Amino acid sequence: MSKSKSNKCQRMTLQRRIIQEILHNTTSHPTAENIYLEARKKLPYISLGTVYRNLKVLLQDNKIQELNYGKGVSHFDGNYFPHYHFVCQACGRVYDIDITMQQGLLESAKAAAMGEITSHRLEFYGICNACLMEKQSQAN
Ligand SMILES: [Zn+2]
Ligand SMILES: [Zn+2]
Repeated sequence: MSKSKSNKCQRMTLQRRIIQEILHNTTSHPTAENIYLEARKKLPYISLGTVYRNLKVLLQDNKIQELNYGKGVSHFDGNYFPHYHFVCQACGRVYDIDITMQQGLLESAKAAAMGEITSHRLEFYGICNACLMEKQSQAN
């Protein structure tokens, strides 16, 4: 292998590791743009395109989750174990909601026999405490 090629490989691995680290060290479910801004602190020359490419690879390897709620912008989650989310409709923040997975729901869906169902995802919607408090302080 030529020297330049191995350098390129190393750089790619480093970029991916840093992106994975960013996601594993936060529960804020950042967007690609957020990840890009954070990654730039460590890799000043990284591009948004590189961030997207690495996110794609991490997704393919099942190392992260993509959360897309149909409003265009995806959030990314370093926790690849199935868990539920709470989406604030005021600020758009995505929170982990710490309740047990509803196995019964999965079994009911399987019983409907629409095909081979293997997992499920669930989101709750509303207004988060941070936004509620802000609203309250504005009212006073
Ligand atoms: Zn909120
Ligand atoms: Zn999560």
